[in-house]
Amino acid sequence: MHDFAVIGLGAIGGATAAELVRRGHSVVGFDRYTPPHTMGSAHSDTRMIREAWYRGSPYMPLVRDACRRWADLERTSGRTLLRTAGALMMGPEDGRVFAGSPLRDAARPDAGDILLSVEEVVERFPWLRPDPGTVTIYEPGAAVLSLEACLEATLEAAGGARGARGAEGAEGAELRFDEPAIAWSALASGVRVRTERGEYPARRLAIAAGAWTPQLLPGLSLPLEVERTVQYWFEPAGAHADALAEGPAWVWELEREGTWYGFPPSARGLKAGMHFQAGRGTDVERVDREVGASETEDLRRLFARYAPGVAGALRHASVCLYTNTPDENFIVDRHPEHSGVVIFAGGSGHAFKFAPTLGSLMADLLTDEPVPRDLPPFSLDRFR
Ligand SMILES: Cc1cc2nc3c(=O)[nH]c(=O)nc-3n(C[C@H](O)[C@H](O)[C@H](O)COP(=O)(O)OP(=O)(O)OC[C@H]3O[C@@H](n4cnc5c(N)ncnc54)[C@H](O)[C@@H]3O)c2cc1C
Repeated sequence: MHDFAVIGLGAIGGATAAELVRRGHSVVGFDRYTPPHTMGSAHSDTRMIREAWYRGSPYMPLVRDACRRWADLERTSGRTLLRTAGALMMGPEDGRVFAGSPLRDAARPDAGDILLSVEEVVERFPWLRPDPGTVTIYEPGAAVLSLEACLEATLEAAGGARGARGAEGAEGAELRFDEPAIAWSALASGVRVRTERGEYPARRLAIAAGAWTPQLLPGLSLPLEVERTVQYWFEPAGAHADALAEGPAWVWELEREGTWYGFPPSARGLKAGMHFQAGRGTDVERVDREVGASETEDLRRLFARYAPGVAGALRHASVCLYTNTPDENFIVDRHPEHSGVVIFAGGSGHAFKFAPTLGSLMADLLTDEPVPRDLPPFSLDRFR
């Protein structure tokens, strides 16, 4: 019997498996596909990791811890995972972008952030055209994570010396890709995971199934909303294409259109999309994975108005899923009826950066280690 089973080997489940292996435990992990894949929340090239969004909140120590852990993984894996490109946080002073992290904390000079006027934004980043009254915090130290490389490095670490698809053994987890967990049960002696290929006993279980979580935990009626979101890659264009590649990324709240983001172009192109869009609630079974021409036009209109000339031909578009909690804080907790089952859910559009830290927290809960104090509100109790 394995010490631990992990259902879902995406961003958080993969990191949980890797951390358990690092601590010397035997692990069996399952994924319905072979990550990185394009069906869930963790695909599409890049993710931001930045502090300004979280200053003054209990997430701050977690961002710093995650940065350290990604840097460690970068060193041990020999892969390039992080690139410092800077990030802009933009919007109306009383808007949503600044609501979670008070402007006064995010813009503290000792934090290394720079508060920019509209004129200063245009002077430094001449491809941007903010509306009058837009507040901008520039965080030069923010970085871009190479998502697929991060996932592959994590799963290699979980697979240990035998590689990501390694067989059972102390050196690495048994990672069972393309093998969905159909059901799990808690027994007196531990847990059991059932797939089409067999039944797998373990002492304890981690569930980190992203947008599929409601299927695996139907009895809990978790208040999770799966949201369809689209990422677009454009050909970088115009006189600023080279400067654009240097950075920064942006998250930019607009009065009417919502919040959009953009990344410095990678080999795949200039990536951009909308962050949180009301009315996009769906589920993994019925989500429309096609991207309509009118959706692309909506984004083109934003470029035309706020970053004219930088987005050339559309190269690619891809649907990605958020799994949102009502308060946008994650769920990291023990199952209320089965203390040997630990759940991660509700990435709410911002969990990727924290993956190695959340994996460690999951491992703490699974092994009865003390968890850090002053965590953000991660408990299931808040919804019960
Ligand atoms: C467009 C977009 C942009 C984002 N930008 C950022 C960003 O800039 N910064 C940031 O920090 N975060 C960002 N996020 C959020 C982040 O990517 C997610 O919060 C994170 O990937 C969630 O991780 P997860 O492990 O919960 O889900 P996933 O990574 O989707 O993993 C869940 C895994 O569970 C597997 N699974 C499901 N059901 C089963 C089953 N029954 N049996 C076995 N396996 C199963 C799935 O196949 C999947 O691999 C973004 C998300 C999106 C969609």
